[in-house]
Amino acid sequence: MEKSGNLKEIKLLLEKFTNAHGVSGSEDNIRDLLEMEIEPYVDTIRKDVMGNLIATKKGEGPSIMLAAHMDEIGLMVKYIDDNGFLRFVEIGGWFDQTLLSQRVIVHGKKGPIPGVIGSKPPHLMKEDDRKKPVKLDDMFIDIGAKDREDAENLGIEIGATASIDRVFVSLANGKVTSKAFDDRAGIVILIEVMKRLSKHKIEANIYAVGTVQEEVGLKGAKTSAFGLAPNLALALDTTVPGDYPGISKNDSSLETGKGPVITVADASGRGLITHPQVLKWLKETAVENKIPYQLGVGSGGTTDATSIHLTKEGIPTGTVSIATRYIHSPVEVLDTADLEACISLIVKAIENVGRYFEASS
Ligand SMILES: [Zn+2]
Repeated sequence: MEKSGNLKEIKLLLEKFTNAHGVSGSEDNIRDLLEMEIEPYVDTIRKDVMGNLIATKKGEGPSIMLAAHMDEIGLMVKYIDDNGFLRFVEIGGWFDQTLLSQRVIVHGKKGPIPGVIGSKPPHLMKEDDRKKPVKLDDMFIDIGAKDREDAENLGIEIGATASIDRVFVSLANGKVTSKAFDDRAGIVILIEVMKRLSKHKIEANIYAVGTVQEEVGLKGAKTSAFGLAPNLALALDTTVPGDYPGISKNDSSLETGKGPVITVADASGRGLITHPQVLKWLKETAVENKIPYQLGVGSGGTTDATSIHLTKEGIPTGTVSIATRYIHSPVEVLDTADLEACISLIVKAIENVGRYFEASS
């Protein structure tokens, strides 16, 4: 009973956070939502210089930083042409082709403005060109404006961000789809972990941090980790599974629905090589509590853990991720059972952190 109740709540939270918009550098909406949701479960809450939200649950014992990034990949207006079409740069790592024909929301100074990403129609393309990918430079945002002045009157200015206009939808078998599961999934895990830990005394001091600008260089994690100087840290994020057509087990051995992913190394070791004590702590906790998990060795992306573990004299750091199909696209897919298992793993790990780590000054 309790489990399905939890799952329903988790889904509602995920829906709320993925339907909201916050491109890197413009995380205000997400931060406000996070503050509202996490506030009942922590002792103090504050925003730092960069815009990170730092929520603290005080306790005697090791200090743990849990980091989930608030930002999502998006676009930024670089130029409004004479006819009122918006030219843009990408903020974060898009596969350009997924942007074609998408609806977007441009975040103007007078509020959100709907638009679409247009390009030359196939009718007017030469046979050869139809087989080629459309270049980003040939795409533009059409908000229906008559000309530049009209666009400006609608509140659009250079530097306005735009994000994908997609809402959360449930698929079969506990799977769900939306934009921005990367990393609103991590934000939801952060909230649920703090909620469950709020019910009893914990032998640890926990910093739950919603970080900014992860997708453009792991920036908020870097400054917040420096300021907090925790005894250990975990990044909560999403990662690439290999369980759909066009990708093989050799590309990724991970699967959706098989439990949270404990990173052993990412970006072929150039990002994070997980601290052995963190790895031992997470693996033993999963085994002892019969929580399903997968071990991840990646050759591609990194997470906030990459910048956190190199802070000051070094911080033992790990990453726990949710396997997410079509990551960095408008139609990301994950399995909600993985969220529940991930929350359980983090809660249990924090409850027995004293067996693995000491508080140090
Ligand atoms: Zn991410």
